[in-house]
Amino acid sequence: MTGKEFLEKKGIKKDDIVGIKVGNKIFDLLTPLPESVLTELEKAIAENKLDSSNSNVKLIRIDSLDGLDIMRHSCAHALAQSVKRLFPETKLSVGPTTEVGFFYDFYRPQGFSEEDLKKIEEEMKKIKNENLPIRRFELKKEEAIKLYEQKGEIFKIEILKEIEDDVVSFYEQGEFLDLCRGPHVPSTGMIGAFKLTSISAVHFRGDENAPQLIRIYGVAFANEEALQNYFKQLEEIKKRDHRKLGKELELFMIDEDEIGPGLVIWLPKGAKIRRKIENFWLKIHEKKGYNLVYTPHIAKINLWKTSGHLDHYRKFMFPPMEWDKEDVKEKKEESKDFERSIGYGGEKTPYQLKPMNCPFHIMIFKSKTRSYRDLPFRLCEFGTVYRYEKSGVLHGLLRVRGFTQDDAHIFLKIDQIEDEVSEILEIIKEILSMFGFSEYMVFLSTRPEEKAGTDDEWDFAEESLKKALEKSKLNFEIDPGEGVFYGPKIDLKIKDVLGRVWQCSTVQLDFNLPRKFSAFYIDSDNQRKPVYIIHRAIFGSFERFFGIFIENTAGNFPPYFAPIQCAVISVKENSQDYASFIYNLLSENGLDCELDLETGERLSKRIRNWEVAKVPFMIVIGEKEKEEKTITIREKGGLIKTLSIEEGIKYILSKCITE
Ligand SMILES: [Zn+2]
Ligand SMILES: [Zn+2]
Repeated sequence: MTGKEFLEKKGIKKDDIVGIKVGNKIFDLLTPLPESVLTELEKAIAENKLDSSNSNVKLIRIDSLDGLDIMRHSCAHALAQSVKRLFPETKLSVGPTTEVGFFYDFYRPQGFSEEDLKKIEEEMKKIKNENLPIRRFELKKEEAIKLYEQKGEIFKIEILKEIEDDVVSFYEQGEFLDLCRGPHVPSTGMIGAFKLTSISAVHFRGDENAPQLIRIYGVAFANEEALQNYFKQLEEIKKRDHRKLGKELELFMIDEDEIGPGLVIWLPKGAKIRRKIENFWLKIHEKKGYNLVYTPHIAKINLWKTSGHLDHYRKFMFPPMEWDKEDVKEKKEESKDFERSIGYGGEKTPYQLKPMNCPFHIMIFKSKTRSYRDLPFRLCEFGTVYRYEKSGVLHGLLRVRGFTQDDAHIFLKIDQIEDEVSEILEIIKEILSMFGFSEYMVFLSTRPEEKAGTDDEWDFAEESLKKALEKSKLNFEIDPGEGVFYGPKIDLKIKDVLGRVWQCSTVQLDFNLPRKFSAFYIDSDNQRKPVYIIHRAIFGSFERFFGIFIENTAGNFPPYFAPIQCAVISVKENSQDYASFIYNLLSENGLDCELDLETGERLSKRIRNWEVAKVPFMIVIGEKEKEEKTITIREKGGLIKTLSIEEGIKYILSKCITE
């Protein structure tokens, strides 16, 4: 029985239903349902739970994420059908969905022109309007190969040959059919609003020696309004692109050729913002009992052997720094101590650029005997790490090769986890809210199959994290089995003004690392006990977070983080002394100001320049202000007010200094 037949039998109205989801498995309405799924469905109906939010069985509506994905797959088929109608000699490859749409790969040596694309899109609309029923059927693999031999679809034959199953499924609509696992909507009329967006050249199966194919991309949404919103959002994303704003506002630079891909230079204005963020961050952490440390960027390779990074993390690490034989010879002649100083003890010891800060913090913990009274022992650092990311995935500040973590490690006893994590969650909320992020998605990831630590430890730790989350009043979901092998973790994602979600803070418990380093504390009974570690970061990486922050604010940073907080503009020459006086007053109070004495330019032009630089406050000083001992403040958003010197300065400081 198919889903369609089942719904009909039960008299469930199915206009906008395109599938059934059982656990993680998705079935379209055209596929025969396995016995076990039918049983689940019957059970859910009997318990009146079909479709309720906490049910294992759900009906997939077309405008849900799963529903859109099913619909987009049918769009890909409509695309292929359209191409075959217009250009019958074209050969088909495959056509899956993407996050916002679909694509299909075609073999056509002459390619497709802009004109062709328009025609293809028009034909797809026709196919939608024809409302062709979509039918699913199965064939033996040999029969399928025969079928495609008749059609001359050479790529489909190649694909079939690699499939291990004896029976394969097809989806058919009108004169078109496609080898396909599905799922699909029941008819082409259910396809939503779509648009073909681009073309690219790819190789069959990504193999450079295989023939070149043309990939046609499209986007698809439930309706025209959603499609238009998507394009509007794209425009907005482009306007806010941190790479573009970073250049315009002179915040950072990346020079791939001379410096290296993924290596970020913070320019003076960006660095100013970063230092304000660091100061603010540090103040909170010191108040909460964290100790700031600094650690080196390199260490002997043995440290990374002990920590296990060399075994498990190698592909993200830069290669070890080996000494050149010539260098060694030369340096040996210069100094007798050379071998000892670099750690050559007969055996060569290369150095390694650090991918993480944890081993250094453990060595600090281990540098003296710690008693239970010292716990929790909290270390924090703006720790710069280097990770080798493939050049293809590097992206502005969001994916880089060198970055600074707002890292911290807390060494504690197992019964301290709950309170400590509660405290961390409070710090996270306090800090992120200053950046305008208040919507979070929180996930608690529990034990995976392969794991360090005992079941008792995991039970206790998972329960502690859960209790801490409940206390924090954060809504959270449990991600079963998604914990790291060394311990359970909490991940927090932030939502930006465009509704995009970014992985940000993380709190990870570790049963493993302290054992690798034999880190322990002396308990009240004078016994050595194993210590536990929490790794945590709030921003994750300064670089990445800065990229998100730039895009979220479109460069209009909150006044307390702005690199220039106030511009003092003297209208004419005779007000310059008074303007300088005000400028000095603000600077002495710790404000980042600029003094604008360019009296040769028109005032409106000068104001415009500071607006373009996204400076949150301007003070305009003319003769009147000088005479009356007042200042006129222009705030972002157009608010203008004239206040006495004292009141004016107090007002600006209240907006610009965090305390
Ligand atoms: Zn398909
Ligand atoms: Zn760590």
